[in-house]
Amino acid sequence: MTVGVLALQGDFAEHISILRSMRIRIVEVRTPLDLEAVDRLIIPGGESTVISGLLQSSGLWQKICTRVRKKTLPIFGTCAGLILLAKHVTGKNAPQTLQLLDVTVDRNAYGSQIQSFDRKIRLKGASKSLDVAFIRAPKITEIGKGVEVLATSGGNPVLVRQGQLLGATFHSEVTGTPEIHKLFLDAV
Ligand code: GLN
Repeated sequence: MTVGVLALQGDFAEHISILRSMRIRIVEVRTPLDLEAVDRLIIPGGESTVISGLLQSSGLWQKICTRVRKKTLPIFGTCAGLILLAKHVTGKNAPQTLQLLDVTVDRNAYGSQIQSFDRKIRLKGASKSLDVAFIRAPKITEIGKGVEVLATSGGNPVLVRQGQLLGATFHSEVTGTPEIHKLFLDAV
């Protein structure tokens, strides 16, 4: 299996390093040709408005949507990556999104960069808690039918799955927590 990490902007290096520690074959995805070589894709955190523009100008936008529709591209989106997958985004300067995952997210719902925080979360049914970081994180405010909540924090969904799409409002790659990547690679 080859995992693509969208490497247009944001914290793709942290995703690559966690995947490397798991001995996963990786391709940095910047062009439609790169995308052809991958079985799965991670859309990292960063600045969703910037990544949105770069997805369009690189020609990746349509290719990603086509493969998701054909169910040949499981995607894990973290933070800005989740925002880009979401059907609806609220908040100031909401970017254009791929509209693939049936959730509404409120961008920058916790405030600015200095309101970022680390927190322990627990996956549903798990006994062990995981260290993750919420960095200018979005909040998932509405969930469509067919979207499964895999973890909550403070009463809010923070990890959701719909078919082959997995979305997290937090970063586990920043805290060096491999469990969410394992979940994506094993179960989606
Ligand atoms: N709030 C940022 C955005 O809208 C995402 C932050 C992040 O990815 N850590 O792009």
